[in-house]
Amino acid sequence: MQIIDPFNYINDNDGSRHMHAEGVSLNFLATKAGTPLYVYSYQALTERYNTLKKVLPDSLICYSVKANGNISIVNSLAQLGAGADVVSGGELKRAITAGVETKKIVFSGVGKTELEMAAALSANILQINIESEPELELLNKISLEKGVIAPVAVRVNPDVDANTHDKISTGRQEDKFGIPYKDAIYLYSKIKELKGLESVGLATHIGSQLISLEPFRKAFKKLTQLALTLKTSGHNIRSLDFGGGLGINYSGELEPNINDYAKIIKAAGDEAGCQVILEPGRFIAGPSGILLTRVIYVKRTEARTFAIVDCAMNDFMRPTLYNAWHKVELVSQQKNKVDTETVDIVGPICESGDFIAKDRDLPPLSSGTLLSIKDAGAYGASMSSYYNSRLPAGEVIVSGNEWDIIKKRQSLEDLIGLENFAHWQKNSVKEQ
Ligand SMILES: *Cc1c(COP(=O)(O)O)cnc(C)c1O
Repeated sequence: MQIIDPFNYINDNDGSRHMHAEGVSLNFLATKAGTPLYVYSYQALTERYNTLKKVLPDSLICYSVKANGNISIVNSLAQLGAGADVVSGGELKRAITAGVETKKIVFSGVGKTELEMAAALSANILQINIESEPELELLNKISLEKGVIAPVAVRVNPDVDANTHDKISTGRQEDKFGIPYKDAIYLYSKIKELKGLESVGLATHIGSQLISLEPFRKAFKKLTQLALTLKTSGHNIRSLDFGGGLGINYSGELEPNINDYAKIIKAAGDEAGCQVILEPGRFIAGPSGILLTRVIYVKRTEARTFAIVDCAMNDFMRPTLYNAWHKVELVSQQKNKVDTETVDIVGPICESGDFIAKDRDLPPLSSGTLLSIKDAGAYGASMSSYYNSRLPAGEVIVSGNEWDIIKKRQSLEDLIGLENFAHWQKNSVKEQ
């Protein structure tokens, strides 16, 4: 199934071509909103969500907020009927602020605090996915204090290798996530004893950026069997939460076929007689956004050519963190074909690990050249930091010929304003 790419070139009268986000020129957006700038396409978000919904109409799709938690993005999906998968009290707040129905919110994560669980119970969300026995006990205590019954699912670690990057593989025995498969039955009997808890389902999430469907098949099969065993023992397993993890095509990877993925899920859900919950993040948000950046300088040394751009690892961590490969394109291309040059695209941060792309053959770059970093909509803005006292990139969304700013640029005053001198330093700085 081919889903549209909203970031396309439109030809100008003089034969040059310029990349647009849907109907809006990226040159225009860079001038209006500055760089670095995340640009998202509403149409792409919608199409990608609807593609999944169409092949799995009976599943509850809980968008994984950590992929991109901007409230405008989450609201776009909530309007289409999506729920949310959150992994912190902050994400819970975002999802509710963005208009996600609380009865469509799933709370995952290995380290939920007392405050976070209390917030989830107050919001009356769909379910809390439990990842350890102490967590189960604490949630029970909070529920009893509040006089409520917490709807829980145990996140099981099926010990299946997702064959993805080590840092985003979560379903192997040695990973910190979930409850070992063999301990699940014990935990469900414990849930039954504890008066503040009620079992509603079973959950898993084996990793992110999966390219092969085989690990999904293995893990879901194990989960289905466990669900049937639990049901036979009288536990209430209404839903199976299969997590997220669908991979996307960053550098020519063959994306999993959505129909085949849906088939595996449907079969597993049917066999277990359960409603299916999914938690896709990257699949929906990744290709729906790009990061726009401008070349500050080009530095040619004997060894290499560096294009130093105005975005860096604080804006976009994936290359540094995972050695991720993202396609980089010139926003404006001239009519005549030019010889390319091999460049490393790097940020201004004082770390050699601060790179965006290495060894790329691109038309010669110069100061001011605008570049588009593709597939940056997931785990881009949401992973940004303030390192080197850099302010995070702005964010805009486009729909047809319309656009709007969905995250303002902060000021340095905002950044430094959270800090203060210790009380004994108060008079040591002269008024400027
Ligand atoms: C990160 C995460 C997801 C989303 O993963 P994607 O690969 O972005 O689809 C879903 N569920 C849980 C529990 C997660 O931690």
